[in-house]
Amino acid sequence: MRTTVGIIGAGPAGLLLARLLHRAGVDSVVLESRDRAYVEHRQRAGILEQGTADVLRAAGAGERMDREGLRHDGIELRFDRRRHRVDLPALTGGRSVTVYAQTEVCKDLVALQLKEGGPLLFGAEALAVEGAASDRPRIPFRYQGREDVLECDYAVGCDGFWGVARQAVPAGVSRVYERTYPYAWLGVLADVAPSHDELVYARHERGFALLSMRPPAGRHRPGGEAASLPVESFVSRLYLQVPRGTEAGRWSDEEIWDELERRFETDDDWHLERGPVTRKSVTPMRSFVHEPMRHGRLLLAGDAAHIVPPTGAKGLNLAVGDVVTLARALVHEKETGSAELLDTYSATCLRRIWQAERFSHDMTTLLHRAPDATAFDDRLQLARLERIASSRAAGTDLAEGYTGFPLG
Ligand SMILES: Cc1cc2nc3c(=O)[nH]c(=O)nc-3n(C[C@H](O)[C@H](O)[C@H](O)COP(=O)(O)OP(=O)(O)OC[C@H]3O[C@@H](n4cnc5c(N)ncnc54)[C@H](O)[C@@H]3O)c2cc1C
Repeated sequence: MRTTVGIIGAGPAGLLLARLLHRAGVDSVVLESRDRAYVEHRQRAGILEQGTADVLRAAGAGERMDREGLRHDGIELRFDRRRHRVDLPALTGGRSVTVYAQTEVCKDLVALQLKEGGPLLFGAEALAVEGAASDRPRIPFRYQGREDVLECDYAVGCDGFWGVARQAVPAGVSRVYERTYPYAWLGVLADVAPSHDELVYARHERGFALLSMRPPAGRHRPGGEAASLPVESFVSRLYLQVPRGTEAGRWSDEEIWDELERRFETDDDWHLERGPVTRKSVTPMRSFVHEPMRHGRLLLAGDAAHIVPPTGAKGLNLAVGDVVTLARALVHEKETGSAELLDTYSATCLRRIWQAERFSHDMTTLLHRAPDATAFDDRLQLARLERIASSRAAGTDLAEGYTGFPLG
């Protein structure tokens, strides 16, 4: 099998890259080890930066997002039983975010790729990337019980943190920067309308909690952007900080609701609506960057190259930023013969990635309670939150980071 761009992985990075290349007339083949149902139902991110939503629209993949997604103009910080709203457009010159789940982004991109794009093979596991430093990289893969090889001009690793592509970068070339956190997120989906119409980030002495939401599955109203679904029709997505290594099944639904109630408590009459928990999982927290993101004709994008803790809602958005830069570079090479943009791909992406790493780390340490936190650390956290609540400059810094750093 032969193509121009061989893409490993059909997560948001691989699917969007294939879509952008197809629109520009560049051939690709996508290899995905899992089946379609798994790719379309894996619960992960849910906040799209304005730039991400704009890219999906420009790629012709924004129609359902505009109908079913929810524009959010603010987030709430909750600490010391008080509530502070960060007004995103007022602080950023009009920028906002969209609540639209990663599962839905993937469904939209898969449908478009199967209808209009090049081959997308589910159940096709890439085994390695060979000859990355040569003119003809090769991707051996296993598909329908047979082994085959995908030959390409460029191989792109969009295969997530646990994929094979990164391993093809020689040890002497790779540089890894990493931090793990002593806590994780216990996430639940609950079949109840969200108790607040914007996301609530709560800092509490018992640990962090987040109130978020997802559009209801399978329900939508016809029409354009103005016909967005009302927030009351959404389901709740809630998270609790738990110690690293916690098993989701060890928390009963009642214990989860009790703990959420404690961490979200306020001095006013706000209260948390409870409902049936339909899904429970634990997400570890990690910061990770692999440099460089290019080795010869192998390029890395998305979680294959970097991970952020989910507090800043940046993972999916970074993946989108990478593939926009990469698609532009690959199309430029095809049209002009110049590899100039491919040569700067890694450095261009890493500037934005490190800003997102910094932002995600800052948000995480601002809101989570470390197991060894002292009373001094607690006071510092509260002082940082007070500063954001009382200073326009500090609020602007948070709002700019939250709505997204410019694409490279
Ligand atoms: C449990 C969890 C919860 C998260 N929650 C949030 C959140 O709330 N907010 C947020 O912003 N981000 C969140 N993230 C991060 C966000 O989901 C990722 O940043 C995003 O999925 C990155 O997209 P990607 O395409 O780079 O990688 P992925 O989505 O990981 O896709 C990689 C794809 O490659 C495939 N693959 C792997 N190996 C091979 C192989 N050898 N051959 C073929 N295919 C292969 C995988 O099956 C997968 O489909 C979360 C991540 C996880 C793991």
